[in-house]
Parts: sequence; C-alpha cells; structure tokens
Amino acid sequence: MSLKQEIEARIAETSKWEIRRQYGADGPNMRRLWVLACMDERLPVDEALGINSDGPIGGGDAHLFRNAGGIVTDDAIRSAMLTINFFGTKEIIVLQHTGCGMLSAHGDELEKALTAKGIDVDSVPMDPSLPEMTLAKGAFAKWIGMMDDVDETCLKTVDYIKNHPLIPDDITISGWVWETEFRRLRAPISGTTEGRERTQYAASVMGVKGSQPPRWS
Ligand SMILES: [Zn+2]
Repeated sequence: MSLKQEIEARIAETSKWEIRRQYGADGPNMRRLWVLACMDERLPVDEALGINSDGPIGGGDAHLFRNAGGIVTDDAIRSAMLTINFFGTKEIIVLQHTGCGMLSAHGDELEKALTAKGIDVDSVPMDPSLPEMTLAKGAFAKWIGMMDDVDETCLKTVDYIKNHPLIPDDITISGWVWETEFRRLRAPISGTTEGRERTQYAASVMGVKGSQPPRWS
C-alpha cells in the first residue's frame, strides 16, 4: 500500500470513528484485537504489546479489558463474546505480569479478612443487576482468583478462552507475561523456574504458604 493509500485509509477510518459500533462487525477496532490484561498500574499494555489502545484521545487499536490478574471471569467472557462475535475482532491476547498482587496473598486469608469485617461472603451479590447469577456456598475464596504461578495461570487462561463455546475456533489467541522487574515481555514458561528465577513469578516466591483455592487446577 502506498503512503497516499495509507493516508486515505486512515482518514476514512477516522471519519467513521464515532459511529464505528453502528457498523457492527464491519466497524472493528484497528487491529481487530481484544486484550485481557491485569489492572495493575505497573503493566503498560500499549508498551508491552507495541500497540496504541489507550491514548489520551483513544488509541483505537484494541478493545481493552482489565481486571485483577487479567484472568477469565464471567465478565471477561461476556466482553470477549461481544467483541469476537459482533464487533469484528479476530485476535485475543492475554497479558499478565510478574509481581502481580494476585500472587501476594492466599485466597483463604482474604476471605477471612472480609469475614472478620462482618461480611457474609456466602451471600454477596455477584452482580446486583443480575440476581440470577450466584456463587455456590463456600466458593468465595476460589472466586477471588488468587494465583499460585503467573505463567501457569496465563497458559490456563488462554486454554479456557480457546475452549469456550462462545469463542470461535478461528480466533488467534496467545498469552504473554510482562516482567515488571525488567520492563520486558516474554512468553509464559511452564514447569520450570529457568528463565524466570530473577522475577516474582509465583506466590511462593512472594512468601505465600500453601496452594491457592483450586480455581486453576
Ligand atoms: Zn497484576
């Protein structure tokens, strides 16, 4: 494509910016991309992926979904389902990071802390606008989603999305780990500490004893 054609394409794209969703799958974001990332302020999604998703005037490269850990939750699936099936998105990236707060404590301890505040964790509305959505008694600590190992969690998150019935098979899906310590991206590493021993990749490295409630097993 010549630069002239690129400029013309960019102008055409910009001109339909504000009504993009009205085109449905014909009005996708620039990279046809959905990113599931941890909410951590030390995780610079655009820098890590080399995209422009979240600039001050709207980067436009991706639909960006962030939650604690960058993990699969019902709302992550809901958002992925919409962007993939109706807004023209063709690729999913899962972005998690070392030193994640979700590695820094045990889920059972967090549940206990909330219980000590007088909160009945077995009767918390998961979504007050959707009372049909409930959590089984005793599943609260698991629901929090604390991790044992960020690399393993990243790989499992990719697997869960790949195998979900709302996500078609032709979608490109990959997972990546941002090394907070070194400000660099790498692929998740499974089953060994080699290549990640100088980072806070696991709950045990961060001083947490025992395994988390078994959300990821
Ligand atoms: Zn995090």
